[in-house]
Amino acid sequence: MHIYESAPHRTLHRPLRIGSLELPHRILMGSMHLGIEGDAAMLNRLIAFYVERVRGGASLMITGGVAILPQGGGDHMYCLTEPAHRDALGTLAAAVHHAGGRIAMQLFHSGRYAVQEETGLPADAPSAIVSRINPTVPREMSNEDITATIKAFADGARYARELGFDAVEVMGSEGYLLNEFLSPLTNHREDAYGGSLDGRMRMSLDVVFAIRSAVGPTYPIIFRMSGDDCMQGSTPLRETLIYARHLEDAGVDALNIGIGWHESTVPTVAAVVPRGAFAPIAAEIKQVVQVPVIGANRINTPELADELIAKGWLDCVAPARPWLADPEFARKSLTGDRKHLNICIACNQSCLDHTLAKPPQPASCLVNPRAGNEMGFPKVHARSRRRVAVVGGGPAGLEAARVAAERGHQVTLYEARSVLGGQLQYAARVPGKEEFFETIRYYEASLQRLGVDVQLETEPTAMELSHFDAVILAQGVTPFVPDIEGTELPHVTTYADVLGGRVPFGRQIVILGAGGIGCDTAKFLHDSTKPEAKVAQFLSEQGVAGGLSSTVSITVVARSRRVAAGVGRTTRWIVRGELRRPGIEVMTEFQTEAITENSVIGMTTEGPRVLEADQVILCTGQSSRNELVEALSGHADVYVVGGAKNSQGLNAARAIREAFEVAYNL
Ligand code: SF4
Repeated sequence: MHIYESAPHRTLHRPLRIGSLELPHRILMGSMHLGIEGDAAMLNRLIAFYVERVRGGASLMITGGVAILPQGGGDHMYCLTEPAHRDALGTLAAAVHHAGGRIAMQLFHSGRYAVQEETGLPADAPSAIVSRINPTVPREMSNEDITATIKAFADGARYARELGFDAVEVMGSEGYLLNEFLSPLTNHREDAYGGSLDGRMRMSLDVVFAIRSAVGPTYPIIFRMSGDDCMQGSTPLRETLIYARHLEDAGVDALNIGIGWHESTVPTVAAVVPRGAFAPIAAEIKQVVQVPVIGANRINTPELADELIAKGWLDCVAPARPWLADPEFARKSLTGDRKHLNICIACNQSCLDHTLAKPPQPASCLVNPRAGNEMGFPKVHARSRRRVAVVGGGPAGLEAARVAAERGHQVTLYEARSVLGGQLQYAARVPGKEEFFETIRYYEASLQRLGVDVQLETEPTAMELSHFDAVILAQGVTPFVPDIEGTELPHVTTYADVLGGRVPFGRQIVILGAGGIGCDTAKFLHDSTKPEAKVAQFLSEQGVAGGLSSTVSITVVARSRRVAAGVGRTTRWIVRGELRRPGIEVMTEFQTEAITENSVIGMTTEGPRVLEADQVILCTGQSSRNELVEALSGHADVYVVGGAKNSQGLNAARAIREAFEVAYNL
């Protein structure tokens, strides 16, 4: 049986108790910050987001972090010391209950990650040790500060209970305050709250004791603890397991296992992280406690969640971003409707990159641009049904066709190639970006479900298109060929031909352009020309030194000093790091002057350079494909979206969002 037609899962349906809280099944919605919290004008929008996910079947939803004190919060956050914020949170809880859902409040203190410019206050931390991702130097908390903070956690839990929340989750991972107290890296105190493990975990345990005493014996407390900080020299696993047992003894009803600090150089949520990569850590913790253990990082499919629970590694899952990608994550998972599940591809482009932007933008989702603005785009049919043509089956065209059909229009989609996906087909071939195949599968299934007439290998004429009521042109882009001598030579090709499998690889390759596509192409070439993992493992286990590395040499040249410019903040460092592989060289400030039969000639800051090359790959930007625009200029309703509209700074997030908005408003 194909995975997308799988039967409902073995474990996900099973009910679960978290303390006194009875959950009907094992798919929770993890905490996430939407960037609209704390703004009275956005409350209804926030409520619409949560209520839609109640209807999508979440067994319990955990809010984004709610600050217990102003110095532990930041921009676009609720803070429990603000009466108006408490009122808003009460309204949210009531709305969730009215819709039939359950909601837990995450009690949050950012510790040394607090940004003074945002809070207007010094950041609190166990010791005055600055983080590499925050210029604010924190102040070491006094004993009075510690007592007040413990009390604030307890007050926060009491507020949560009074406001109608079904549980609290204490944020104690990701490098925030309680995690900082636990770690020897950030806790250099010499008093009762530092030193030995007993001292370093005292803050967390005192917080749990205080909360338990404030809310009574039966109110559910979830503790989000760090399974591994992914920081050299931080809390070792041996101590983490002891800590977990003490938290259980202190009275928590479930442990939610976070992974990695925000300043860690280990990717924890990006697409390069294999699905379920960190679940073994949660499994270790599960072996030492009786309370339910919740897992999340990179658990984005129901079959994986089911497998991890069936193996006894986890008791339930609380993914967050997968709920942005599909508000019906639980309902579709539980009914086995995998085919129509829109999967989070771990790109971070419209969620984390938005909330971490300066200034922050509301979180949304690359594969579901409606996420975070459900109120602005209600799921209703358009007033009149129109005949709509969409030209181009790349990301913009697929989204335009899907949304127009969802709105009740009669849609025909034209694609010149024999397959749908456009640039997504290229992206999906890059190692670590295979999740894009899920996006293509989702669109194909959606168009079929919605009855879209898909015409492959078809390029309609302007005359044919003029018979439609509305036309959306989404023909995308073609690789841009710069005006450099030698680009017409036979060994010069483009990223599209390489990623599309239309040309054989050279052995000495120069890639012109070090933007996202240039970096992706280098990675693709490198990984395609080295032995498969199991072959490499065999060779190295047998002590065979040869045959372990890539068989090609790759030089990526950038005109400027920047590499991977345009790639989002949360993944740029990963992309750059992946170029540091044997066989890949990156050369910045290289102005290409000519390509010859066996070289690339350019000027660098140190003078002229000649790079030997038997293949040159152009990753030098893209040009819009908009040849139908003029021919249809007299037509009443023509819209151009995505790369066809503007190839500058193009990415899938922009293309899909533009297509969504145009198609929705038809
Ligand atoms: Fe997942 Fe990307 Fe959507 Fe974020 S923007 S939820 S990472 S698919």
